[in-house]
Amino acid sequence: MGWVLDLDGVVWLAHRPIAGSAEAIAAIRRCGHSLAFVTNNSQATVGQVADRLAAIGIDADGDIITSAMAVAELVQPGQRVLAFAGPGVTEALRERGVDIVTDGHVDAVVVGKHVDLSYQGLAAASRAVRSGAQFLATNTDPTYPTPDGLDPGAGALVAAVATAGGRQPDLVAGKPHAAMAGLVRDHVGDSGIVVGDVASTDGLLALSLGFRFALVLSGVTTEADLPVQPAPWHTFADLASVVAAELG
Ligand SMILES: [Mg+2]
Repeated sequence: MGWVLDLDGVVWLAHRPIAGSAEAIAAIRRCGHSLAFVTNNSQATVGQVADRLAAIGIDADGDIITSAMAVAELVQPGQRVLAFAGPGVTEALRERGVDIVTDGHVDAVVVGKHVDLSYQGLAAASRAVRSGAQFLATNTDPTYPTPDGLDPGAGALVAAVATAGGRQPDLVAGKPHAAMAGLVRDHVGDSGIVVGDVASTDGLLALSLGFRFALVLSGVTTEADLPVQPAPWHTFADLASVVAAELG
């Protein structure tokens, strides 16, 4: 069986571990199940995510799938791509073999979460979108959970480009969309369980994969938000409770 674990709101909150998550992941590893850490956060590089997980006692090497990796599947080597996004996207685009540009002709614009965004960057991205470049979003999550509350997610930046550029994204790459689902299925196989804190991304990803969806209340979704759609297979307090129920 494959385990598909969301990161923000399941494993950690803004890189601070959620109690019991490291032990739960160690238990999954001991059972020999396949495992993927699947995040719509495209900001960090894969190495940075792995290092942050290692710092809280989680070995994730080779098992991390980000929406930056998914969005890179949507462009072709040699295309001229403008990124209004963070280092994770730049890394994935480089590996894909695209030409990362800041002006001139643009084939595609990729928008993802980054905290050092600038008005000039927004202007360049929206101008390219208005000029007919393909408009790609890593994900459209409106918010990003932190221990202090919800921060703006990639969806807020995508909305800014869409407003100024005059149209909505052509394709979204991350959960629950096809590019991400394809990467996840290639990594964990044809059956499994998705553990996530957001039904509209993690739940729909599970539905599209034909996997069970375990909703956890350790992130964005709280008791007051229930019921949610799509309905989870089961709702748990946190990842440790899911693993205790599944693996004993
Ligand atoms: Mg989450």
